[in-house]
Amino acid sequence: MSADLLKNPIFHDESKAREWLEARIWRNGPTCPHCGNADQNRIRSLEGKAHRPGLYQCNECREQFTVTVGTVFERSKLPLTKWLAALFLLVSSKKGISAHQIHRMLGITYKSAWFMMHRLREAMRSDDLSPLGGEGKTVEIDETVLGRQEGMPSTKHVKGWVYRNIVLTLVERGGSARSWHVDATTVGTLIPIIRANVAHETAVMTDQASWYKRLNQDGRFASHDTVDHSANEYVRGHITTNTVEGYYSIFKRGMKGVYQHCGEKHLHRYLAEFDFRYSNRIAVGCNDEMRADKLAAGIVGKRLTYRRTDGAQL
Ligand SMILES: [Zn+2]
Repeated sequence: MSADLLKNPIFHDESKAREWLEARIWRNGPTCPHCGNADQNRIRSLEGKAHRPGLYQCNECREQFTVTVGTVFERSKLPLTKWLAALFLLVSSKKGISAHQIHRMLGITYKSAWFMMHRLREAMRSDDLSPLGGEGKTVEIDETVLGRQEGMPSTKHVKGWVYRNIVLTLVERGGSARSWHVDATTVGTLIPIIRANVAHETAVMTDQASWYKRLNQDGRFASHDTVDHSANEYVRGHITTNTVEGYYSIFKRGMKGVYQHCGEKHLHRYLAEFDFRYSNRIAVGCNDEMRADKLAAGIVGKRLTYRRTDGAQL
């Protein structure tokens, strides 16, 4: 991410920013967010008639709208230019970018930057429910503990160890990553998530942790191979979990260097952020621009709004 990128007018000119967003959200022309009408003969621009810029009239439901209506962009007091700058910085920083840096670079308060970044992360959350893998595909599975390993034996009701920040990640080789903040490394916690998110015919690979032993007991997957990390074995032919470990190395460097004070309750949002960048990386043909397009569409598509309990507006 170069400082040059921020010279783009969409980061300085509110109209240019709105037009950029319209071009990405409305690929076939304006669509009424109230009734879904996309018939261009039934939508009229009110631009230049003493109305606010970018305002349209829907002739189906008679409502007026702009591209940001009902979204976090509209409710925020921050200009769209700042939102787009933050969005581009977030999608193009491999290890993430801190709210402090956004605050300094964009000249907004730290508090605003913090909320902005969390809203953007929320929009990065994938709503793709289709399973990873499939015939001829490989999914690597691993779990990690973030931060200090303050583990303690769990109660007899739940077998295993209890940590606070356990992450489970599935990575399809050559494809997407999907991560969860989980309560425990137990069969009962991990296996249902894996089964719901990995297609039947997939070759799955894990290390030899006990909770994976019964993963393919019923022969549901094409195969289940393991590498023995305790014996210092990391690769045996095509059998390895190096892809998912590569994911964790980026994630951990980011969390350590950029997000030192990640609260437990926000961990799932950071995971959404790292999953998003990984799943839309250069290696799968996605550049910064395409990632920005996708995130902008996610913000508007999910009609994200603030759910602040203190009633404050940013
Ligand atoms: Zn309408």
